Amino acid sequence: MANFHEHPIILASHNRGKLEEFRRLFASVDLPLVLDDYGEKEIIEETGDSYRANAQLKAQAVASRTGRWALADDSGVEVDALGGLPGIHSARFVSSDSWENNREILLRLLEVPWALRTARMRAVLCLASPDGLVFFSEGVVEGRILTWPRGQQGFGMDPIFSIDGETSFAQWPQEYKDRVSHRAMAVQGIIPVIQQVMAL
Ligand code: IMP
Repeated sequence: MANFHEHPIILASHNRGKLEEFRRLFASVDLPLVLDDYGEKEIIEETGDSYRANAQLKAQAVASRTGRWALADDSGVEVDALGGLPGIHSARFVSSDSWENNREILLRLLEVPWALRTARMRAVLCLASPDGLVFFSEGVVEGRILTWPRGQQGFGMDPIFSIDGETSFAQWPQEYKDRVSHRAMAVQGIIPVIQQVMAL
């Protein structure tokens, strides 16, 4: 049996912002989550060719190194008019600077009319056990790419992504985004799996 209160699930990330976001998203189930601050910090290269492969790489690397259950996510933004780019390359599309990536997307879409500016944010979560079990959950939120960045909150492509056609995610209070986001949907999908694992 997995007792996550005694041995919290390790979030396969060194990013405190991500930890806070997942803690909020898991708040309803009182699930202890800790950051991967164990031993030597290693950067796990995202060498997979899908969100799923990358999430699995990260979760399994941490689970086997620590001997504990680990949770990892991989996410991105898919712009239809760009054939699904930047997708799994979102974090480093043309740069590791999200403003530069956003500017590049806006430039490439300069001539693209509103109706064709459809896009989605996708997140895949992988929960891995130390003995090799893996479980996945995926969440998607549909929207469009605005013609100009709006808002100061959030991160990454939040300022150019809109689900209502007017405001960007970077203008939304965090708790609103938490109700509809791709990551929130993926978390909703993995919660029953975690509850099953805890009950085994
Ligand atoms: P990763 O999942 O840490 O590899 O990062 C994926 C990249 O996708 C981020 O750096 C952002 O550019 C983009 N992205 C994923 N989810 C979001 C989101 O909720 N808001 C804004 N950008 C996002």
